[in-house]
Amino acid sequence: MSQERPLPVITEQNRGYWAAAARQELVMPHCTQCDKVFFPIAPVCPFCFAADPDWKKVSGRGRVSSFVIFQQAFFAFFKNRLPYAVVQVELDEGPRINANLFDLKPEEIRIGLPVEVTFEKVNDEITLPQFRPLVRGT
Ligand SMILES: [Zn+2]
Repeated sequence: MSQERPLPVITEQNRGYWAAAARQELVMPHCTQCDKVFFPIAPVCPFCFAADPDWKKVSGRGRVSSFVIFQQAFFAFFKNRLPYAVVQVELDEGPRINANLFDLKPEEIRIGLPVEVTFEKVNDEITLPQFRPLVRGT
C-alpha cells in the first residue's frame, strides 16, 4: 500500500478553487445568471443550467450536516491519524462540502455543530480546506 497521501488533481475547471485555497480563501462556483453558489465544481449551474460560472468567496462558516469516523485506513498515509473524522459541512451559503474536522475528538462531533474553515497546506500547489469548531466571538 502506498504511503503517499492521495491528493486532488488540479484541472482547468478546478484551478480557481485550489488557487484560492492556497491564499487561505474558500471559494465556490458562482452562477453569473441566477447568482447562486454551488458545489461540487461543475461547468454548468445546477439551478439554471447557465454555463461559465465564476468564483465567489464564501464565509467558510457552516454546520456539520453528516459525518463518519474512519477506524480503518484505506490509504496507508492515514494510518497514524486513526480514528479520524470526515464531515459534511453545510455552509451558511448553502453548498455542502466534505472535509476533515480538526481540534475535536471524534466522539464529540454532533450533527449541527457550528464549524469554520481552516486550511491545511500540503505543498506549494495544494492547500486543503478543512474545518474546526467555530470559536464564538472571533
Ligand atoms: Zn444559475
